[in-house]
Amino acid sequence: MNVLVTGGAGFIGSHYVKELLRADDVARVTVLDALTYAGHRENLGEALLDPRLTFVEGSVVDAALVEQVMAGHTHVVHFAAESHVDRSLVRGALSVQTNVLGTQILVDAAYRHQVQRFVHASTDEVYGPLTTGAATEDDPLRPTVPYAASKAASDLIALSAYRTYGLPVCVTRSSNNFGPAQYPEKIIPLFVTRLLRGEPVTVHGRGEHMRNWLHVSDNCAGIDLVRRGGTPGEVYNIGGGTDLTSRELSGELLRLCGADWDSVRYIPDRRANDIRYAMKWDKIANQLGYEPQRDFHEALSDTVEWYRRNRDRRAPLTPTSGITRQHAISDTTQEPQHV
Ligand code: NAD
Repeated sequence: MNVLVTGGAGFIGSHYVKELLRADDVARVTVLDALTYAGHRENLGEALLDPRLTFVEGSVVDAALVEQVMAGHTHVVHFAAESHVDRSLVRGALSVQTNVLGTQILVDAAYRHQVQRFVHASTDEVYGPLTTGAATEDDPLRPTVPYAASKAASDLIALSAYRTYGLPVCVTRSSNNFGPAQYPEKIIPLFVTRLLRGEPVTVHGRGEHMRNWLHVSDNCAGIDLVRRGGTPGEVYNIGGGTDLTSRELSGELLRLCGADWDSVRYIPDRRANDIRYAMKWDKIANQLGYEPQRDFHEALSDTVEWYRRNRDRRAPLTPTSGITRQHAISDTTQEPQHV
């Protein structure tokens, strides 16, 4: 199998590439990554030394490059995206360009090159907020924020390539991932990097936003089950076993970082901050044998340890870095934080 991984220098993509290279039947892995602020070659670590790996720096919206890179690949796993909600609030057009147009360009090239399986990595955020119950794969898509809307659009683009041309596409929708080497703008790495430096952290609203937490290795395992055995045209939710409000999660992180509640500032809620996401993931469990392996508390502790050991590896964000003043649409966007 020759596998093209887009966004393979990002958080989930780099874990996935390492997982792929552990498989004997994977002959070649190509990473296509634009190395945006979120992509770092070093995330791939020793995988960069593996002769089966080729790294191509470039964008999924560069159709000529995608056409060239796609040649010879049997499988595509598509992670490349603008993945941060707050950034999408101020740069919605970039989310659409990368997430929607990029997906269309990839499926077009994958069809031309007769790829055997195309896995599109998506998110539970496409279902929108649920006050009760849990979304199944057949539920309507009701995204709230531009990021989620662009992911929902890209899911539909990917599935349309199956329905129209028979390209063997599967879509995975996972909940909030955490683990080593996540860029410190999402809540866990942002809080950990700040708390370890003795800096305060901010919680939106009253900290009641509920999210499901999934260790990145479990998501990668689920995605690989889908790549290997998923039914073309199908969507698979991938969740973990732990649901926490942002206040509950903050408490865990404070404890693990040796800080207390004095480090927490409550700020007005972000625009359109969905109160709760929830999904059922019986389909991938029953059909493909998926079962999350990592215990949440142990995995969170390991993650904090990773940031403790890699303090200097990447500068934590300052409140406004990466989001320019002229793009800021509310004070709450100055505190990049996505739960
Ligand atoms: P990330 O932001 O850490 O990484 C994104 C990667 O895509 C980076 O390496 C970046 O350089 C690359 N990229 C961005 N624009 C590109 C372009 N135009 N061409 C090529 N590469 C480009 O994101 P992540 O957290 O690893 O998420 C990966 C995928 O999984 C995304 O599609 C995201 O929507 C989805 N997802 C993430 C989560 C989560 O909790 N992190 C949950 C569900 C789904």
